[in-house]
Amino acid sequence: MEPSFSDLQSCTVRPDAPLLIVDVDEVLAQFMAGFGAFIARHGFELRVDRYALFQNIYRPGESQHLDLIAGKMLFDDFFRDGADDLLPAIGAADALADLSTRADIVILTNAPEHGRQSRARWLKTHGFDYHLVINSGPKGPSAADLARRTVAPSVFVDDLLPQLDSVAEHAPWVNRFQMVTDERLRPLAPTAPERHTRIDLWPDLKAAIERKLILP
Ligand SMILES: [Mg+2]
Repeated sequence: MEPSFSDLQSCTVRPDAPLLIVDVDEVLAQFMAGFGAFIARHGFELRVDRYALFQNIYRPGESQHLDLIAGKMLFDDFFRDGADDLLPAIGAADALADLSTRADIVILTNAPEHGRQSRARWLKTHGFDYHLVINSGPKGPSAADLARRTVAPSVFVDDLLPQLDSVAEHAPWVNRFQMVTDERLRPLAPTAPERHTRIDLWPDLKAAIERKLILP
């Protein structure tokens, strides 16, 4: 599936405003914790012992992870029905509310298309009522498209190293931060601090974003 160009096209970015492009899962939302709670209610358990998703789902007592197709079904169900289990990342809503007084904010998420309604509702409920762009695949081209619309500085935040690398490739002028909100995932997340600054706490990240966006 191609990135949703209608989302991108309808997303307005002021041509002179600083721009923050921000991911959802593990950045604004405690994805692993929420997904774990969701699958627990369906009789499975999430063992966070590597930076993976489907390979971490087990039937209680078993040592072999659930087959990947069954895992993918749980994942799809979670994006449709799991919003109640998904909690916001600590400090994220306050940080964005403050930054949004001086910068434009675009939420760039790779949620599956069938999860659009649920995701949009969740974001609104938790105080993230900003432009939403549902993306598919590498985020670099979409981030470049957005960041080209302003002459002011831009920042991109994601938990996934390949997405940060994609933005570095397609939009090298955009400042990049890696943030992983789940404490169990932090030591497991592939990271490259020489390429992308790593900051896992929102108050610290907010201050660093302000410096990059040159916000007073
Ligand atoms: Mg993410």
